[in-house]
Amino acid sequence: MLVPKVQLIPSSEQVTDLLRETGALREGHFEFPTGQHTGHYFQMPLAMRYHGNARVLNVALSRLLRREPEVLAALPKCAIVAPAAGGIPVAFGVREALNADQIFWAEKDEGRYHFRQYLDAKGLKCILVDDLVRSGKVITSMIDVIQKAGAEVVAIGSLVHFKDAHFDAGNVPYYALLEVEARFYQPAECPLCKTGQPFEKVWA
Ligand SMILES: [Zn+2]
Repeated sequence: MLVPKVQLIPSSEQVTDLLRETGALREGHFEFPTGQHTGHYFQMPLAMRYHGNARVLNVALSRLLRREPEVLAALPKCAIVAPAAGGIPVAFGVREALNADQIFWAEKDEGRYHFRQYLDAKGLKCILVDDLVRSGKVITSMIDVIQKAGAEVVAIGSLVHFKDAHFDAGNVPYYALLEVEARFYQPAECPLCKTGQPFEKVWA
């Protein structure tokens, strides 16, 4: 564990070091299934394997979310909601730190996110969390799914946010623990290809 006091919000450098040490962040030359190239590859579940690390990250994100008056007003009758597998360990950690009273998550079927059929979320205030926001597409579809369930998103939080991700969250405040400048290139424009560095194929 890199950060001795979980009471503090770790710096970007400390979060980056933690992700690097656990293998959750790799730097090099990577090709995604889309054919795009990048110099950074994130596998957040590798950081969340260790309880101590997961706790540091989740507590820090919770401290950011606590800055939001709407979050404080909604607690404890509030749900922490995750899109799918990657966000679930974040939801459990944030719930514990914020003392919110429930957690639920969506499941992806035929390219769309759904909640369990008999979930009653009408009128519920929700904090939407995920491990990593790369394009923002998952967040925007989750806002839609939550609103269609009759619930309200009061805040959004993620451990990592790619600065290039522009998404429309309306007036909902968004907090990220680590802002990352990770560029994606078509191979023809990839600066790493130009240096002749071999690339590694990865899955999203
Ligand atoms: Zn390349």
